[in-house]
Amino acid sequence: MSTLTDQISSRRTFAIISHPDAGKTTLTEKLLLYTGSIQTAGSVKGKSSSKHAVSDWMDIEKQRGISVTSSVLQFSYDGYCVNILDTPGHQDFSEDTYRTLMAADAAVMVIDGAKGVEAQTKKLFKVCTLRHIPIFTFVNKLDRETRDPFDLMEEIETVLGIGTYPMNWPIGCGQNFRGVFDRQTRRVIAFEGDGHANATKKVAEIEAELGDAELADLIGEANHANLIDDIELLDGAGDELDLDAVRTGKLSPVFFGSALTNFGVEPFLKEFLRLTPTPLPYTDCLTGDPVDPMRDEFSGFVFKIQANMDKNHRDRIAFVRICSGKFERGMDAMHMQGGKKLKLATGTSLMADDRATVDEAYAGDIVGLFDPGIFSIGDTVCAGKCRVQYPEIPTFAPEIFARVTQVNTLKRKQFVKGMEELAQEGAIQIFREPGFGMESVIVGVVGVLQLDVLEQRLKSEYGVEVRRQALPYSEIRWILNDPSTYDIAKLNLTSDTLRVEDMRGRKLLLFTSAWNVNWASERNADLELSEVGNFS
Ligand code: GDP
Repeated sequence: MSTLTDQISSRRTFAIISHPDAGKTTLTEKLLLYTGSIQTAGSVKGKSSSKHAVSDWMDIEKQRGISVTSSVLQFSYDGYCVNILDTPGHQDFSEDTYRTLMAADAAVMVIDGAKGVEAQTKKLFKVCTLRHIPIFTFVNKLDRETRDPFDLMEEIETVLGIGTYPMNWPIGCGQNFRGVFDRQTRRVIAFEGDGHANATKKVAEIEAELGDAELADLIGEANHANLIDDIELLDGAGDELDLDAVRTGKLSPVFFGSALTNFGVEPFLKEFLRLTPTPLPYTDCLTGDPVDPMRDEFSGFVFKIQANMDKNHRDRIAFVRICSGKFERGMDAMHMQGGKKLKLATGTSLMADDRATVDEAYAGDIVGLFDPGIFSIGDTVCAGKCRVQYPEIPTFAPEIFARVTQVNTLKRKQFVKGMEELAQEGAIQIFREPGFGMESVIVGVVGVLQLDVLEQRLKSEYGVEVRRQALPYSEIRWILNDPSTYDIAKLNLTSDTLRVEDMRGRKLLLFTSAWNVNWASERNADLELSEVGNFS
């Protein structure tokens, strides 16, 4: 039996981020393929194939081939227990990605070698830097024409503001792609055969040393000469791989490869696992101290809630990142925010639809707890004598608003339940308009696709049809003045500013422009408005 320390030290928990189409799903799939977790490539996400994703279970994802919700994939490899937190690439779901990154100890950024740093890469990268976690880069699609690798590195450095350290270096690209030079072992791993024909199998790799005459034969004279020049240049820069800088997210180790043809995936995984940290400590906001992940007592926080993952059971699952100790199914624990004891009755590990019950799990792991409706995102659970509270997870300020009204008034109960449950998941924020009943609510989201998902889920999970009316608001501010003494009705506002309240009864204003926010502040000297959300 291994000890708690052994178990926790073997954990590696990370998220993969990318601009859509850079190859995140393909890379995830190839990682699973190498580690024996799946047998055939093509089963992570069936965008173009008939097979559907292991990680996508919602119909909307299947229809549109986008990954909406994050799921967790766990596998063992080379003595490590690896947790990959899948994140939706589409910007409309950045908030979900943000929460998922709160549960990760590292991030892998996949970049399309032809396109470089794209819009969504930037946004997700920014979210990673808020956590100061190590960020590894995988420059993908080397089997296609790509940009010059020096250019790509420079772009990452200047656009994202992080240092880069190439762990390997590509030899050619596209038709001319011959492999990579591994800077640590000083050997070339040659790309062999017709990659596309081999796309669903492990690719063969041949190793040869730089300067060998056979290498020139293998990769071609010109490639060989170029490679020698490039490596001289890189070595001349003289930097050693600074591990401290990697661990604090200041330096990104960069790997080149081609996920589709499997090339460079295994060396990447090996190096990544070696360099990436064991579960990082999270801060207890009651004391301000970091909590040692190795301490015996279990603690963790909820970073995601998902209702109705299994339509037959209509249950709610709260995904908990374990921050310390060991989780055991059925253990007694304390829900800190609710101040109540509870039994952690159901632990589920997620391989999408196929939810295996988890009997034990350790710091670094994610467990899906059965949620009897008590958890909110950011809540802490802990066991034994441990009493800690992890920081709240900030929310994005919604930027898109719609009025959602139920079509069939007989379904009022289902409508209210659906809206409330989906709001608790954090996928949408809901607001009430004074004078309107609960058959119509205002919904705020970060991305318009979230409204499509809402509509679809209300229909399929709650049997409720809704009508949706787009609203012109784009700015949201909470009113901080004491509601018992402050008369909101008397506020001097532009006619297109709307007074609403959130689910906790707090008053707020919806504005159609930042200009109107200023107008309100200027005309109502004593009005105190909240700042905009941090991440909008
Ligand atoms: P995601 O949106 O980031 O998850 O991207 P996917 O993994 O779904 O990949 C998008 C498209 O790029 C798919 O058609 C993949 O087959 C293709 N792709 C992914 N990796 C590679 C690669 O290394 N080389 C080539 N040529 N295509 C790739």
